[in-house]
Formats: sequence, structure tokens, C-alpha cells
Amino acid sequence: MDKEIFLIKLYEILLSSFGKQNWWPGETRDEIIIGAVLTQNTNWKNVEKAISNLKTNNCLSLECLRNASSDTIASLIRPAGFYKQKTSTLKEIAYYFTNNFNQNIKKKPYKFREELLSLKGIGNETGDSILLYAFDIPFFVVDAYTKRILIRHKIIGNHDSYLEIQSLFHSFIPKNAYVYNEYHALMVKLGKEYCLKKEPKCNTCPIKKGGL
Ligand code: SF4
Repeated sequence: MDKEIFLIKLYEILLSSFGKQNWWPGETRDEIIIGAVLTQNTNWKNVEKAISNLKTNNCLSLECLRNASSDTIASLIRPAGFYKQKTSTLKEIAYYFTNNFNQNIKKKPYKFREELLSLKGIGNETGDSILLYAFDIPFFVVDAYTKRILIRHKIIGNHDSYLEIQSLFHSFIPKNAYVYNEYHALMVKLGKEYCLKKEPKCNTCPIKKGGL
């Protein structure tokens, strides 16, 4: 099937099957940024525990993370795993956003992305999650679920890079933060509930039922 038609139809089926997901699960911009770092290589339940610890200790803000000691942060975010690495990433990103952050950079999305990705511990997926969910800047977030689903439907190859996959969405789906927000969240739901790593539930999957 033509890639453009597939990606458009996939979004339509996901939205009509699952409904709006209304991501990101966070109340403030700081919480979204912090959550985007904490969710690296772990599940959301563990992130919630770490966020709850930060909240209870009045440190769910970039300002607090900037000023707190690394030991304190590490002990609070421990449930999210890789806590030493994530502590240094949080320190770095907290400093970036609270030390003369140039608000005008939001008008230069690619420059903003470049700066974020230059920070230690911020890769494509985390950087794009921050841009999309914390700043409403339309960069499509490509994660393991997206890759798995698209590989299984032969839309991408096993070795396609993050940016190659992202460019498919940017080429064929209108650059709109709301749409990219929902599309990524819907892909996560599909990956978690149907397109499982070992035994995909194709027989009951809405994508198969929808004719893709
Ligand atoms: S579960 Fe099967 S039908 Fe559904 S997205 Fe995965 S490969 Fe496609």
C-alpha cells in the first residue's frame, strides 16, 4: 500500500477506535519536561512513582531540580531507574531552561531542537517529546512501538533511522502539533494493547479490522 495512504488511514482508524488520548499526562510544562526524561527506558508506572516523590518533596519543577543536590534528586527519582544518569540529564536540562532561556528560540524549531539534542542524555525521542508535548511544536515522536508497527506493515525497513521514519510522518501528515500529539499517543496504545513484541493480537486488532 502507498505509504501516504497507509499513514493517513492508520491515524483515522486509531482515532475512531481508541478516541482522543489527550496527552501528555502532566499538569505543567516543567512536569512534562521532567516526565520526558524520566520515562527513558522504563514504564510509566515507575515514572509516576518518581514524579510523586518529587511532588511530595516540592521539587517537581526545573527551578528546584537546578538547585537541589544530585544526591537528593537521585534518591527521589530512583523508582524510574537509571537514576544517576537521569539525575545528570535533569540537572543539565533544568539549567538550560532556567538560565537565561531564550524564549525566541521557540520561533526557530530546528535550532531549538538542535540545542535540546546537544544536552547530555537528550536524544531524538526525548527531545521531540519535549518539543511536541511541552511546547506544542510539531515534531513527530518516533518510539519503539511506532517502529514495530510500521516494520510489521512493511512501511519502513528494519534499519531505517529515527529521522528517516520521522520524515515519513512529516511528509505525509500535516505538521500540526495536535495531530502529532494524538497520533503518537494512539500508536503507544496500539503497541501496548495489540501490537505486542512477542505475539501481536492481529486477529482482534482494529488496524486489521480496518483493512490495513
Ligand atoms: S497487531 Fe497485527 S494488525 Fe495490529 S498493528 Fe500489529 S501487526 Fe498490525
